[in-house]
Amino acid sequence: MLLDAIHMGVSPLLMASRWVRNRLSPPVLILLYHRVTRLEHDPQLLAVSPENFRAQMRYLKENFALARLDDDWERIPKPAVVVTFDDGYADNALEALPILEELQVPATFFVATELLGSGREFWWDDVERLLLTERTYPPALELQINGAAKRWDTAMPQQRARCYQELLPLLRRELPQQREDHLDKLRSWAGAGKEGRATHRSLSGEELRTLAASPQVTLGAHTVTHSSLSTLPASHQREEIAASRARLEELTGKKAEVFSYPFGTRRDYTGATVSVCRELGFARTCSAFPGQWRAGTDVQQLPRQVVRDWDLATFKKQLSRFWIS
Ligand SMILES: [Zn+2]
Repeated sequence: MLLDAIHMGVSPLLMASRWVRNRLSPPVLILLYHRVTRLEHDPQLLAVSPENFRAQMRYLKENFALARLDDDWERIPKPAVVVTFDDGYADNALEALPILEELQVPATFFVATELLGSGREFWWDDVERLLLTERTYPPALELQINGAAKRWDTAMPQQRARCYQELLPLLRRELPQQREDHLDKLRSWAGAGKEGRATHRSLSGEELRTLAASPQVTLGAHTVTHSSLSTLPASHQREEIAASRARLEELTGKKAEVFSYPFGTRRDYTGATVSVCRELGFARTCSAFPGQWRAGTDVQQLPRQVVRDWDLATFKKQLSRFWIS
């Protein structure tokens, strides 16, 4: 473990002090997943294959206490692990849920509601579909975005890959309606419609209900449009957060008493967002920066560790890094 630390550039002394702290005040580690499926192209590295996911869940089950996001963590055996999913991809119900049920692993699913049942893709996937999939492309793309005229050459695949990389952060800073307008332009530019790829669509209403009905599942809100909340005025943030919860509760008849910030870095929400979550009465809210819960951690900004498509050996190694980080 210490050799790993040296390789990671962490001082052995710091590592040792963290190791001791974790023994004295055992943490709860919250893992963040997005998708369980196999994809040909996965530029955001969101998908974990069903085989790797099953091996990861089995390992957690055999080696840790598995907690729910809404458990009283002061009173559970530790170290404990909590499994969470963000966004609400159809594969959460189709591929992840059967594995979670088979192995009896509890998980929380945070669902963005705008595209439920629409057959459409989340906006970052739509950008991928409109720039990186096989089709005939015009030689250049021009957009007026974030108040500036932008132009990209798009004849070659590597030019479109660059356009994709540059466009995502620009769209993340836009208001939802403006982003949708840009996507409309991008769709007509690429000669494509709104219908998404079957492999990338959001949950249907029926799939959401199946998910929510499972005894393993805790349901959580994740806004309507999956915008970076720090770009929105506080009143608009409140609307996004409250409306997504109301929609989930209406569709499933279940309570959604937890929330996760879209994108989840400290730059994607503000103090006002945290206050809104507190005022709306969410029991817990998840961020997406690394860390662990321990007694005294702000329950409206819980750190989480993102899991990638790791085989079991890599997963074990990463888990030991998560515990000591
Ligand atoms: Zn998300």
